[in-house]
Amino acid sequence: MFSRILIANRGEIALRVIRACRELGIESVCVYSEADRGAPYLELADEAICIGPGPARESYLNISRIIAAAEVANVDAIHPGYGFLSERAEFAAVCRDCKIEFIGPSPEAMAKLGDKVACKRAAKEAGVPIFPGSEGAVEAEDEAVEIAAKIGYPVIIKAAAGGGGRGMRVCHNEAALRSNLRNASQEAQNAFGNGAVFIEKFLEHARHIEVQVLGDKHGHAVHLFERDCSMQRRHQKVIEEGPAPGLDHRKRDKVCDSAARLIQHAEYSGAATVEFLMDAQQNFYMLEVNTRVQVEHPVTELITGVDIVKEMIKVAAGQPLPFKQSDIRLNGHAIECRINAEDPDRNFMPSPGTITRFEPPGGPGVRMDTHVVTGYTVPPNYDSMIGKLLVHAPTRAEAIERMSRALREFRVEPIKTTIGLHRRLMENSSFREGGIDIHFLERLLK
Ligand code: ADP
Repeated sequence: MFSRILIANRGEIALRVIRACRELGIESVCVYSEADRGAPYLELADEAICIGPGPARESYLNISRIIAAAEVANVDAIHPGYGFLSERAEFAAVCRDCKIEFIGPSPEAMAKLGDKVACKRAAKEAGVPIFPGSEGAVEAEDEAVEIAAKIGYPVIIKAAAGGGGRGMRVCHNEAALRSNLRNASQEAQNAFGNGAVFIEKFLEHARHIEVQVLGDKHGHAVHLFERDCSMQRRHQKVIEEGPAPGLDHRKRDKVCDSAARLIQHAEYSGAATVEFLMDAQQNFYMLEVNTRVQVEHPVTELITGVDIVKEMIKVAAGQPLPFKQSDIRLNGHAIECRINAEDPDRNFMPSPGTITRFEPPGGPGVRMDTHVVTGYTVPPNYDSMIGKLLVHAPTRAEAIERMSRALREFRVEPIKTTIGLHRRLMENSSFREGGIDIHFLERLLK
């Protein structure tokens, strides 16, 4: 097992990894930018090293500074968390060259599943259902028009290297497709350094269902069931829950097994999420694979009892997964609300600043993952999530009541947060009935 791990991230996920290390008897080394200097979670690490100024490009995204810190601190492994460098195959390769274990997949497996076009190819080989669309990246306008005519409008243009909901364009006819294609590729080039785009059928009224999977270095892979992440704003998740409400159990087994098959086929080790869209008849189409731990991983931890972050560390150290598929059982229902420092009344404008009162909820079945304490200043440099509130209960209805109760206890002053919006959503009758799809929130906020 490792004796020292460097955490190449910040905020709540850095704290989550520090906690896993502590429980495994591993020392943790946290890096931080000047904007995060004095953040309270840094005191919980065994060592903290400043790696540069606030802008992520000069700190959390700076590979040479992170590797220098890892060498100075003499760590055996690096946990990348989510975002930042977590899905850069190049970073995983640099770690390998420096003889530091990257806690995640090999650069090869990451490249195979992390690129949306390559991933579709792998999914096809593994017999996982994918969207009708272009086989690979589309080069010429006429080629795209031909494919769109075959699969039918609306279609969506996506960047092969895309992420975070960026670089996607929905086109309802040929004229829109032609005029958007070049811009989309240019935008992808600017945002991701890769201009490759592809097109696929755009599914209306879909639900976003994703399967959590874990693989080890001995060729084993298991799934930990699914989450429903249909509650989104601008393609960004707002509420996640598991298991997916109303999902037929045969369909569940089918989609979860296909996800495990895909990562086994890719010889993938570590945690991954296979994302799907599901139509009204509960047919599934794979969207993409996220080759890292997800923000919403605690939903799965609550309903399966598996500590995903600890398992990631153990499999990176070469240990085999300690369970078989048949050992994994679903227990109850979990919901996560992302608490963002944003003002829902002003178009979700970020609301950074010093928090003078922070009183998170507690009581039965409540889990709060946050790095925030009273007196903490939310820096303006990074994303606005200040924590994740989760509940676990025997049924979905009870979980919703529990979440309502917990949100009511939650006090954050004076910055604006999404707590009030979540309270409203928990009261919403369609949400309570499970009648959700990926446009639910947009319709409600209109
Ligand atoms: P990203 O990597 O940028 O997060 P994804 O491919 O995961 O992009 O898609 C994010 C969200 O965009 C999905 O959850 C869904 O709401 C919407 N979306 C993506 N592809 C389609 C599609 N073919 N049809 C309908 N909605 C889609």
